[in-house]
Amino acid sequence: MGLAERGVDVVLVEKHAQLGGRVRSWPVDHGEDRVTMSRGFHAFFRQYYNLRALLCRVDPALDRLVGLDDYPLVLAGGHADSFARIPRTPPLNLATFVARSPSFTARDLTRVDIGAALELLDVEFPQTFSRYDGQSAAEFLDRLRFPDGARHLALEVFARSFFAPPNQFAAGELVAMFHTYFVGSSEGLLFDVPTEDYDTAFWAPLERYLRVCGATVVTGDSVEALHLEEPDGVRVDLASGQNLEVDAVVIATDPASTRRLIAQTSGLGDESWRERVAQTRNAPPFAVWRLWLDRLVDAGRPPFLGTSGYGPLDNITVVERFEAGARQWSDAHGGSVVELHAYALPFGDTAAVNSQSIQAELWSQLNRVYEETTGATVLASEWLVEADCPLIDTRPWHLRPEVTTPDPRVVLAGDQIRCDFPVALMERAATTGWLAANALLAGWGVAGHDLWTVPMAGRLPAVGSARRVLARSAPRRS
Ligand SMILES: Cc1cc2nc3c(=O)[nH]c(=O)nc-3n(C[C@H](O)[C@H](O)[C@H](O)COP(=O)(O)OP(=O)(O)OC[C@H]3O[C@@H](n4cnc5c(N)ncnc54)[C@H](O)[C@@H]3O)c2cc1C
Repeated sequence: MGLAERGVDVVLVEKHAQLGGRVRSWPVDHGEDRVTMSRGFHAFFRQYYNLRALLCRVDPALDRLVGLDDYPLVLAGGHADSFARIPRTPPLNLATFVARSPSFTARDLTRVDIGAALELLDVEFPQTFSRYDGQSAAEFLDRLRFPDGARHLALEVFARSFFAPPNQFAAGELVAMFHTYFVGSSEGLLFDVPTEDYDTAFWAPLERYLRVCGATVVTGDSVEALHLEEPDGVRVDLASGQNLEVDAVVIATDPASTRRLIAQTSGLGDESWRERVAQTRNAPPFAVWRLWLDRLVDAGRPPFLGTSGYGPLDNITVVERFEAGARQWSDAHGGSVVELHAYALPFGDTAAVNSQSIQAELWSQLNRVYEETTGATVLASEWLVEADCPLIDTRPWHLRPEVTTPDPRVVLAGDQIRCDFPVALMERAATTGWLAANALLAGWGVAGHDLWTVPMAGRLPAVGSARRVLARSAPRRS
């Protein structure tokens, strides 16, 4: 989009029938009912400035996002935590959260290593990412002597929502997210969700917008190979047999596809750069299970609940609480549409996942957390096991591939691609996408797009006034 809006003749090639990647949704028929399935519940945090800028192209006031009142977390047999009613202004937000949270007792607080805790406030990006090279989030919290309950909630829930076991998840990433959500911004840890399935809300309108900007959108075809042998331009082979002759390419695929495309493209980068790309890893498999039940869950259940200590269950979503299509189904059938997620499954790959036993376990854990589902009949279900998220592990930050490549004709984007800002997941995908467009535009002497971030440093005197800042002003037309 960043290119098409500047008059570049863009061809977008997407392997699936719909845009959206891991935030895709698609129709499924259950008997007479046409419903939607998606790649899973997604939280659109309010600090996602660059993603929101993109969505604003088709929904200027972001009316198709609705805020959830809380981000409740529950630990089996123990505490529950909540981010509602926490003041927004740092550091008051942090102090109030710690004071109110049952996860932090006065005794716990006396044990916390103050030096390590201050590291959370004394950040400067991107250097902070490298400061924690080789250290996992679990090791960092050991050093911090974080209370056990809080550790389960904050660490397990946080690390696992990055699809990583906590002992493999980079400490630098945890510190960056702490900065983004607690110290570096005043939007809090509350988030929005789309009022419709992802395709209806955003991707189909964005596809139409791209076409209006003059782009060609090819879905259901995939890029098989890139050829850089000629000094100018790139030849792109598609699975359909079509070839495209283009000036430049943005590789914005999932991590495994990016690795494969780069490995197969001869002449792109030297050995050490190619090795850095080859060394990136995928996170373990995860599962998304959407269930259409014959009864409603209790009216007081939140739209989304993070869970810890309930076997493989990481969260429960009651989809009809916010998604129009699910609400229609729920009204018509008197049942709930419930989605369960299980991240970082202990299996080497998706083929090894024992779906039957994971489903049995997820169902019994759902019954434990929401007892009213015990004995419910599942009228329809969709089960999805994938392993297409990057593992943001403890290897040196500077070795992760960045947006620019050794060849100015090829740039990279995606949530596995390094950038200086403390962003992650969808926001890193969007931010690196804008950065990739800006890099190509700069090469052609065309103005780029402004980017926003939370402040890049979090030294204490500055934190009370945390506001988003202009991260990179778009280069102006020369
Ligand atoms: C269950 C789940 C829950 C999540 N929850 C959240 C959340 O709450 N908040 C959050 O911020 N993030 C969340 N994420 C992460 C988020 O989905 C990703 O960070 C984001 O989608 C990454 O976008 P991307 O563009 O980098 O990659 P992708 O979304 O993977 O997009 C890559 C695209 O490239 C296409 N492609 C691949 N190979 C080819 C090829 N050869 N030719 C053509 N097309 C190709 C793919 O089909 C895909 O559409 C979640 C992810 C999952 C799986």
